Amino acid sequence: MQNLTNRSKVVSKREMSLAEKIYFPAILKGLWITLKHFFQKKASYNYPEEKREFSPVYRGHHVLKLDDEGRERCTACGLCAVSCPAEAITMIAAERKPGEEKLYREEKYAAVYEINMLRCIYCGDCEDACPKEAIFLTDQLVSTEYERESFIYGKDKLVETLDHRIDVSKRQTQEVADFKKNKRYQHNR
Ligand code: SF4
Ligand code: SF4
Repeated sequence: MQNLTNRSKVVSKREMSLAEKIYFPAILKGLWITLKHFFQKKASYNYPEEKREFSPVYRGHHVLKLDDEGRERCTACGLCAVSCPAEAITMIAAERKPGEEKLYREEKYAAVYEINMLRCIYCGDCEDACPKEAIFLTDQLVSTEYERESFIYGKDKLVETLDHRIDVSKRQTQEVADFKKNKRYQHNR
């Protein structure tokens, strides 16, 4: 028979030695490894008593931002939904009516905007795709729930409120800040 590669190994079928048969040295070796780890710094945290500090750019659940005048920035263009690899975002667009200029910044807005947090993989693609700087991921964890439906976050959970603005400035890296200084890309101001 011809070998496909020269990496084949001959399996040893030798008899076990007495030390191997009684397992005692192997047990001692295992205990020694356990003892060594016992005095090392723990890799785990006793959550929820101990909480780990997150990275400032940790990707937790999303926020839909308001502009400086308190109007929703999202214009329901759908780019976030198209860019989402998990198909977690759905929305229904609506046209702004006269008198709603203080609620919605653009003539089109998302009447319904939902993210399925069970589908989301927190990749941040929606944040990158948004031309209106409307959606950002935050450092907040998605809360635990008992029902699957509770993980579908609508505007009630996603849109920030005027009295609880969420600071996303720390997510703006130097590269992003430099990019925004370019006049060609200031269409969303
Ligand atoms: S973070 Fe990624 S997976 Fe989650 S909604 Fe945004 S694009 Fe989709
Ligand atoms: S969040 Fe941004 S990308 Fe998504 S629909 Fe709204 S404006 Fe478009």
